[in-house]
Amino acid sequence: MKVTMKWRRALPGAVMLLMVGAPCVTAQTSNDAGMPWEAARTAMLKKFDGLPHAAQHVDPFKIVDNIFYVGLETVASYLIPTSDGLILVDATYADTADLVIDNVRKLGQDPAKIKYILVTHGHADHFGGAGRIKELTGARVGMALAEWDSVARLQGRSPADPSNGIRLARDLVIKDADMLMVGDTQLWFYVIGGHTPGSMVTEIHAVAGGRQFRTVLGPTFELSSGTTAASIRSVERLKELGPWDALLPSHPYLAPTPVPVTARQAFGLEPLPPNPTKQLPFVGAQRVNAYLDQIRAAMQARVRE
Ligand SMILES: [Zn+2]
Ligand SMILES: [Zn+2]
Repeated sequence: MKVTMKWRRALPGAVMLLMVGAPCVTAQTSNDAGMPWEAARTAMLKKFDGLPHAAQHVDPFKIVDNIFYVGLETVASYLIPTSDGLILVDATYADTADLVIDNVRKLGQDPAKIKYILVTHGHADHFGGAGRIKELTGARVGMALAEWDSVARLQGRSPADPSNGIRLARDLVIKDADMLMVGDTQLWFYVIGGHTPGSMVTEIHAVAGGRQFRTVLGPTFELSSGTTAASIRSVERLKELGPWDALLPSHPYLAPTPVPVTARQAFGLEPLPPNPTKQLPFVGAQRVNAYLDQIRAAMQARVRE
């Protein structure tokens, strides 16, 4: 509770979120039946159905002092400035990489200083833009081994599918519990699986109002291959790794609300209809834990069906 209040006070408006993607987004709508985010996700996907990805453009905004939103309406990309360059968590689609780069620029940052592109998992709504951004910046790309394998398979297809972006050579292979220090910023990685075998989350100490908040970046809860023991285990692992002061998902639409949720609403920059006082469960350890419990219960109910 205290954490929530201070974070919110430090950052009037900026704190709850969730994002969506394409491969996670398009094919598996039915897999999300009964999940807490079903309504919000379905509504957001419907809103942008048939439109080019660029229609999901969002102007960049600050979430906390050291985490900025540079992603799309349904798929997150987080920018983390450090004393020694920039870190990007997820690249969005192949055809929106330039929007991400523009957003970095709009924040007054030099995209050439992007040193790392960390990919939550090997679906094209998260890695598709990585090749383009790497080409522009020389950044290193990191993801878990299973996801490198998945990306290699997708990008190795013939004929090439442009949605998989510029081909990536295997670079940083991130293992569970790895740590990365970039300038003054320390990141820890956990390969929790579930959504995909190598789905990864990143721990960072978010800074707001002179205080630090233990934050997890990039969980993806969607059931891309149906409800499995691995999905449930990944949620339990995430909770065990807590308590988390805040959770910033890989898709803003993972919010458990009956309405579409824009990125700005998910992060608290704009009120959430129909109840503007409602708080999404992404800030405050109690709320995050309750949300993880809710997800686990929904997944277990699916297994019992
Ligand atoms: Zn996705
Ligand atoms: Zn996915």
